[in-house]
Amino acid sequence: MTASEQTAVRVAVRVRPQTARERSNREKDCIACNITTRQRSFTFDYLFDPSSTQQDIYNQSVRPLVDAALSGYNATVFAYGQTGSGKTYTMGSSSWDGLTEDDLGMLPRALKQIFEERGRREQSSNMILRASFLEIHNEELRDLLSIPSTLPFGIGARRATLQIREDPQGGIYFAGAEEREVESFRDMCELLEQGTARRAVGSTEMNAHSSRSHAIFTLIIEQRLIRESDFLIALNTSDGAGTEDGANLAEEEYIVSKFHFVDLAGSERLKKTKAEGERLKEGININSGLLALGNVISALGDEQKRHSVHVPYRDSKLTRMLQDSLGGNSRTLMIACVSPVDSNSEESLNTLKYANRARNIKNTPIINRD
Ligand code: ADP
Repeated sequence: MTASEQTAVRVAVRVRPQTARERSNREKDCIACNITTRQRSFTFDYLFDPSSTQQDIYNQSVRPLVDAALSGYNATVFAYGQTGSGKTYTMGSSSWDGLTEDDLGMLPRALKQIFEERGRREQSSNMILRASFLEIHNEELRDLLSIPSTLPFGIGARRATLQIREDPQGGIYFAGAEEREVESFRDMCELLEQGTARRAVGSTEMNAHSSRSHAIFTLIIEQRLIRESDFLIALNTSDGAGTEDGANLAEEEYIVSKFHFVDLAGSERLKKTKAEGERLKEGININSGLLALGNVISALGDEQKRHSVHVPYRDSKLTRMLQDSLGGNSRTLMIACVSPVDSNSEESLNTLKYANRARNIKNTPIINRD
């Protein structure tokens, strides 16, 4: 087993290509020199450059988590980065309407794989899939599937009040959240469409459509696995006389796993957004939530090395709600998204530092001293 396979948390960095606007502005592409001129070296599990496709990223970094979830492990994929760095594109956590097959993000690709697997199973009833779609905005948890879409958030809007609860086994659930059973990929598309329409969006100096909330799409996979014992197989391959008795020997196992896809709010520093009033409050909450997440992920890395480390799950709604899916046997992937252009280099460096800390590898701190 390699060092990277032993870690509970894996970190990928994705550098998106320049957008049409950046190309027409003849922006300087600077991510490579950004890393070296500041004399920093970082270690990540995967590095995806602008030529990497959604398929490349899925196959290398997300597919192993889907395989694990189908085997009963909880899994979480985060997209982290400043607004406009490609989080939503990478995750595929907004409407898929009008997207080409190649553009499909990690969420639809994972769902496709899971539905394909479900179809391969002899009886589809052996796998039940339920989904919820929540967001955290200003440290308030909202259900994106049960608020009337005609009402905006804010004055007069009916808010679904959700509570984060823990069951006796340590499992986290969201009291009051709608969990929809989904039968097909098409059902999932509709559900995502509805939730996306209800996400809180605000306007900042950086991006008129920037999302100021964390969006958490959760798939609950319930499986009834029937394992035939060796004895049963032996009986069935004989003259058939023992088949009925043998059927009683099949072991039934019921497993439930959760797969979270988290599109985090933009990580940009407050001074860059020039936010005031409500926007400033949102920004402060976003930054403290992201800090709490970084602390939890980093503590999980320490926990692997030495036991009895305090993991501060309760410091934010986000970490509390994901508590049973971070650490332990869970699989976690952080995709740090960065813009390639020079004008974003400061934010890109901050993203790399955050991701590096999450990865919790002690690097040789400085290279290329000159
Ligand atoms: P964020 O969610 O971080 O705010 P978006 O996902 O909305 O950023 O991406 C910003 C813009 O860049 C969008 O127009 C998106 O389609 C485009 N984009 C992001 N990543 C890629 C990519 N890898 N390939 C092509 N276009 C991309």
